[in-house]
Amino acid sequence: MRTRTVVLASHNAKKLAEMQALLAPLEWQVRLVSEFSREAPEETGATFVENALIKARHAAAVSGLPAIADDSGLEVVVLGGAPGVHSARYGGAHGDDDANNRKLLQALEGRSEHERGARFVCAMACLRHAGDPVPVIALGLWSGRILEAPCGNHGFGYDPLFWVPDQGCSSAELDPSVKNRISHRARATQSLLAQLRETEL
Ligand code: IMP
Repeated sequence: MRTRTVVLASHNAKKLAEMQALLAPLEWQVRLVSEFSREAPEETGATFVENALIKARHAAAVSGLPAIADDSGLEVVVLGGAPGVHSARYGGAHGDDDANNRKLLQALEGRSEHERGARFVCAMACLRHAGDPVPVIALGLWSGRILEAPCGNHGFGYDPLFWVPDQGCSSAELDPSVKNRISHRARATQSLLAQLRETEL
């Protein structure tokens, strides 16, 4: 198998390490898009898949390499799928986890346990080049429910509020190695990997 280089549409070195490990069996090398551009495209998509495609297309365009991108967030059933694609900026400023969690707790105030169903969603997209009309798309879903108060110190984002029924704890109480094996991102990555094994980049 030929060694291929792909660019990851992320500025996060932890995501790079994770993807490098996952793609090692395919003998693919992974580089971060920040090596080529500091600019991030606007995530204007109405769906997680569209936003993953926007990020992958941008990374492929600035690098001239095949690109992989992900987009993720939280959907709460009784809120009609909110915060959804707006998960990172639900509470106002982009990436303000405390504000996002406060707003989510307020939105669910007075709701009973069975009305607090939610799931994390991750979409991944891989493009051979910026104009690729046949992207490889993978989805990962992780179901649980929203707690009435934060619990646990690991993870990020909505993890302290996300109860994982089959683990009997919040996702912020899970050991990171366990979360990385069972999360929406893990599921999407495994699905993408299975498809890429069949794909000639
Ligand atoms: P991103 O698209 O991966 O940057 O994620 C968007 C937002 O979704 C994050 O800012 C978090 O608020 C939320 N999110 C995505 N994945 C997770 C997770 O694994 N735990 C907690 N929050 C998450």
